[in-house]
Amino acid sequence: MPLFEKLKDRQHEQIVFFREPVSGLRAIVAIHDTTLGPAIGGVRMRRYSGEDEAVDDALSLSRSMTYKAAGAGVNFGGGQAVVIGDPRADKSEALWRALGRFIDGLGGRYIAGEDVGTSVEDMDHIRTETKYVVGIPRSEGGSGDPSPVCAYGVVRGLEACCKVVRGSDDLEGIHVVVQGLGNVGSRVVDILAARGARLTVADIDDEAVGRVTSRHRVEVVDPDEVFDVPCDVFCPCALGEIISAETVERLKCTIVAGAANNQLADEESGTLLHRRGVLYAPDYIINAGALINVADEFHGYDRERALRKTGAIKQVLLRIFAGAAAEGIPTNKAADRLAEERIERIGRVRRTYA
Ligand code: NAD
Repeated sequence: MPLFEKLKDRQHEQIVFFREPVSGLRAIVAIHDTTLGPAIGGVRMRRYSGEDEAVDDALSLSRSMTYKAAGAGVNFGGGQAVVIGDPRADKSEALWRALGRFIDGLGGRYIAGEDVGTSVEDMDHIRTETKYVVGIPRSEGGSGDPSPVCAYGVVRGLEACCKVVRGSDDLEGIHVVVQGLGNVGSRVVDILAARGARLTVADIDDEAVGRVTSRHRVEVVDPDEVFDVPCDVFCPCALGEIISAETVERLKCTIVAGAANNQLADEESGTLLHRRGVLYAPDYIINAGALINVADEFHGYDRERALRKTGAIKQVLLRIFAGAAAEGIPTNKAADRLAEERIERIGRVRRTYA
């Protein structure tokens, strides 16, 4: 598909290509929608198979960020930077500073953050050249690692799910299967264990499993078996695209709610969950704590405020669940509608000359 057709297809505003010969930088910034505010989104570094794959990744991730920001009630649009290269071999101070200068040239239309293949140190180099970057360490007055706040938001989301499915948001005694025990998953386990939940966990990394079993009494299952465990909640905290026609058939839970991005392999998988009576907490709503946390840096970071706003994920989900039930539609569609309506309404308000 020609590039302008791609932009038109999913309503993107802008795509920018950057090349810098000294550092070897090849980067793309996609800006999806800036109705609510400047586009915010991660910098992803990967060995893409080709330019088309890099462009498609930037377009799709920037669009997801628009929906995430709109759903979370923060005043940002959606953007994404991708850097073509091997994060283990091709990083350098010069590369990040070159990207920082390009981002600065966008004049604040795009605000960068950490993502797959990039680190706080990389953001620090970008920050040397531009103020349009978030994810400053706590020691320097920034928001630091977003995972604890993200995990807190996931648990608030779980409360909303339990309220709808079980009639109570008390998490004591509920059986949760957590897939992935990394930064977010291990913290979700910490909180749920303290709340008296029964936990079954899985990770492909034995060390990650060991860190959790040394702290909590949990059942461990093989990563391939997570979909087959009878439980109340399946909590994906590892990979994306794990909810598909095949895994929906296997699930033996009443709730799917977790931190992973892009959990649905396709939109149809949301419909399949809906038909099977499984309540799905749309991923970009329940995992928005990390975005809410970094976005707070723009107001002078305040942890209490970030946690308070993240706590409101529970109310947002309850609204989405009520809307979905009233209309008989899957929750992922109801979430998209909520995000689109906010963009539409605020967009109209902002037409007034101020
Ligand atoms: P992480 O890399 O720290 O942890 C992921 C864990 O999943 C690792 O321990 C890994 O070994 C494990 N894993 C990978 N494949 C697996 C499999 N097939 N079965 C079981 N375990 C497997 O990542 P994270 O920061 O904890 O993020 C987890 C998910 O949440 C990702 O999808 C991420 O995009 C999403 N997310 C994270 C944040 C955040 O603040 N870190 C915010 C929003 C969304």
